[in-house]
Amino acid sequence: MKHAKRLLSVVLALAMLLAMAACTAEPEPQEEQEPAGTPVVETPEDDAAEEGAQAPEDETVDAVIVGGGGAGMTTAIRLVEGGKNVVLVEKQGILGGATNLAATYFVAVNTPVQQEAGMGMAIEDYVASQVEANPLTSAENLTTLLERSEDSRQWLLGLGVDLTRPMSYYQVGIGDGSSLGVAIVTALTAEVDRVGVDYRVNTRATEIVMEDGKAAGVKVEGPDGAYTIYANDVVLAAGGFAASPEMVAKYAPEWEGAASTTAAGNTGDAFVMAEAVGASLKDMDNVRMNPGVYVDERGGAYSLSVARAEGGIMVNMNGERFCNDYASDYTVMSRQIMEQEGDHVYIVFDQASVDRSERLAGFGERGYFLQADTLEELAELMGVPAENLTATVERYRGFVDTGVDEDFGRTTAMTSRIDQAPYYAVPCIPGIQVTLGGIEVNGNMQVLDTQGAVIDGLYAVGECANDGLYGGAPTNINVTFGTLLAEYILENR
Ligand SMILES: Cc1cc2nc3c(=O)[nH]c(=O)nc-3n(C[C@H](O)[C@H](O)[C@H](O)COP(=O)(O)OP(=O)(O)OC[C@H]3O[C@@H](n4cnc5c(N)ncnc54)[C@H](O)[C@@H]3O)c2cc1C
Repeated sequence: MKHAKRLLSVVLALAMLLAMAACTAEPEPQEEQEPAGTPVVETPEDDAAEEGAQAPEDETVDAVIVGGGGAGMTTAIRLVEGGKNVVLVEKQGILGGATNLAATYFVAVNTPVQQEAGMGMAIEDYVASQVEANPLTSAENLTTLLERSEDSRQWLLGLGVDLTRPMSYYQVGIGDGSSLGVAIVTALTAEVDRVGVDYRVNTRATEIVMEDGKAAGVKVEGPDGAYTIYANDVVLAAGGFAASPEMVAKYAPEWEGAASTTAAGNTGDAFVMAEAVGASLKDMDNVRMNPGVYVDERGGAYSLSVARAEGGIMVNMNGERFCNDYASDYTVMSRQIMEQEGDHVYIVFDQASVDRSERLAGFGERGYFLQADTLEELAELMGVPAENLTATVERYRGFVDTGVDEDFGRTTAMTSRIDQAPYYAVPCIPGIQVTLGGIEVNGNMQVLDTQGAVIDGLYAVGECANDGLYGGAPTNINVTFGTLLAEYILENR
């Protein structure tokens, strides 16, 4: 319960802090779907049934896809392009899921834009570093992903996603620094319409239908009642469980009660449905935290990762850095935050960072930031010792100049000296963002049972799948593995 208490006190403290700082009035969030902290859009009542109207009829298609985020939409588009008759069901009122919230970077290595910017790296070296960092990583699947990344980037570019900004040796972002997920979801939604995917929002899958040991369809509840969609291939693309406090408590008790930045629909439905038909769930305790979550006064939780990606540093209530503020392991960073005194930490940055990123500027327009013309005044607003904050920033400027962070070994996104007024700080806590374990699949995204055998006709892709990559590259996984899965079905079924 320690996270729940911390969350409540942070919401109250932040509301007071921001009111005191007399920031601008907060407009409604524009670019993100409602986060998990806000009420879930429930499937509408079965009005038709109540009024005695006929319930929808069962139907049969080639493939049914559960979940309309990046993974589900990509798989659906590719299957329809290949001539399959597909239905995609999405329980929320709009497509997009957590993909809509993806903040900054598409993981890719050695793409032409990175090479041109002097950020090239051999794929095998990157894979080796990831396997060393997390020995559970499947080197084979990661290599496949990265070797196909440029094709996926080109496909997205063709759909209008401006994935042209080299950010590091393993990250590419949107050219103008705007939200990655919004750009991807906008493009995929248009493509879903263009190719003619039959998608149904407010339609929730409740159960996988099995016949003779093979997945044969899903039961769904839509606006007009319940029906069954029979299909030769059943694809689960229903995201993770970060929006289910019960599942967080069950599978990742370390973070029970923590805030969540994911989309409201990510309540782990795929895991319940898959487990019921014998699927293996693997490494469910493996979750990805976000160390920089801003919680507004309504309890909505927003990822402020972009502030660090644009060069910001993290400081504690003593005005001191306490970690590599752009480390790749967000869960380790989140644990480091939990060790600090006080209810929250701050990300500190300057006008140069804001000028570089539309997304960051957008958060400022919503009134999330403390702002001051000098670091001393900023420290006062933050409630940290001014001499410590100025000393911390001055020392960090030296690290930016030499390119060597002598204190915490930061190597990425050291792109700002934090020397251009006005200065900004945003209060943050850790929140649960992505769940990394999931339904065990093989390299074709076929679901495995607890004995390691393929469950015929059943697939999982995206955040709900344990593909051996442990969330290392979610939006790329959606596109690349969604495409691979469609290719497998088109060639073999
Ligand atoms: C704040 C935040 C920042 C992130 N930043 C990045 C980033 O910078 N780079 C990156 O690569 N990744 C990032 N991620 C992770 C990434 O966005 C997601 O992990 C990934 O896009 C998930 O895609 P998906 O298609 O598997 O799931 P989703 O996009 O979540 O789609 C799953 C869909 O399934 C629906 N669904 C669930 N249950 C059912 C059911 N029973 N019936 C019908 N539909 C159902 C859900 O409503 C949802 O729409 C971020 C995530 C968050 C939350």
